[in-house]
Amino acid sequence: MPAGKPPGVPCVHLTDSYACAIFDDHRRPEVCAKFSPEAAFCGADRQDALIRIQQLEIISRPEYRDD
Ligand code: SF4
Repeated sequence: MPAGKPPGVPCVHLTDSYACAIFDDHRRPEVCAKFSPEAAFCGADRQDALIRIQQLEIISRPEYRDD
């Protein structure tokens, strides 16, 4: 996704079973490879994680950033 992944839009490499189609591929973005799961992002379970991700996507929208 050369122009970036808009909030609410799944990554083009996300499979129907929620796996990364390029996990072991050199084309996998560096930001993905460096991401370490932690409770602040992943929460207690999948539903909790989806809520947290949605909140992060909202606050990362350009209209909410000050840089
Ligand atoms: S790890 Fe990165 S490239 Fe793979 S599905 Fe997730 S966001 Fe997409």
